Amino acid sequence: MRQSLFSRLLVLCLALPALASTPAIEKAKQDLARLRELATIGAVSRARLLQAEDALGDAQDEDTLHRLLYGSVGVEQLSEGQTQELLAAAQRRVERVAKTYGNLTDLVQQGVIPKSHIEDLELQLKDRRLALQLAENRAHIFQDLLNMAKAEELLQSVEPQEESAKPLVESFTGSGVFKDAHLKYVESAFQKQFHRPLPITAQGQSNLHTSFGFDHSGRVDVGVNPDDAEGKWLRSQLQTLRIPYIALRAMIPGQSTGPHIHIGLPSLRLKVPDLSSGNGAGGGLH
Ligand SMILES: [Zn+2]
Repeated sequence: MRQSLFSRLLVLCLALPALASTPAIEKAKQDLARLRELATIGAVSRARLLQAEDALGDAQDEDTLHRLLYGSVGVEQLSEGQTQELLAAAQRRVERVAKTYGNLTDLVQQGVIPKSHIEDLELQLKDRRLALQLAENRAHIFQDLLNMAKAEELLQSVEPQEESAKPLVESFTGSGVFKDAHLKYVESAFQKQFHRPLPITAQGQSNLHTSFGFDHSGRVDVGVNPDDAEGKWLRSQLQTLRIPYIALRAMIPGQSTGPHIHIGLPSLRLKVPDLSSGNGAGGGLH
């Protein structure tokens, strides 16, 4: 369960933006290079050149969507920079087609071209809007996970308040050991008890945690309220099995994170520098 530093770095390297090109990008680059050459002798209009630049941008944005939206990379493996990159690419893909579609719709209304000429474009626009919606959903889920992880770190440093019947943070150390086999057992028992899978929101180390120097390897977050039936059941199971956990109850003001249960010992600070995002994602922790 606990990943070595090497395997964590390996995951990071794999998750860095791919530099590889696609056939569509290569073709768009070649077209653009050819047109730029022709432009130097005045054989190509500025508008045609802009169109070719647009086509290259579109191919690159499409690749971004394939890598970060449709690809196999899980939302918890994204960095904050990558979610921004994904959103921007999806947005530009909509804008490019919406602009052309708008211009051609005017021509259809004026009777210059038949409606059938813009039907393909209409479908394309629909597809791209759907992709943007998916990208926004992804960014939203990412933000929730980020908030949850941040809250966890903040709450771990909060001293339980004496007057409060239920402390904000309740930790149980048990045997101090949390293994894969424990998780498998708890998952199957939870499924039997509640007829749904254990709602795991973060399993082990993720780029999200790495990006703000947080060692979450060998730890699992479960999105249940510690005081709901599911949360109470889970806490009692963990206590019986002597598995360490932290129950987080409070909401951090200004953050949309919900209470959850962190299974495993408290997260430690990573000693490796942040490699996963260029902009030091998730600032404002301290
Ligand atoms: Zn956690």
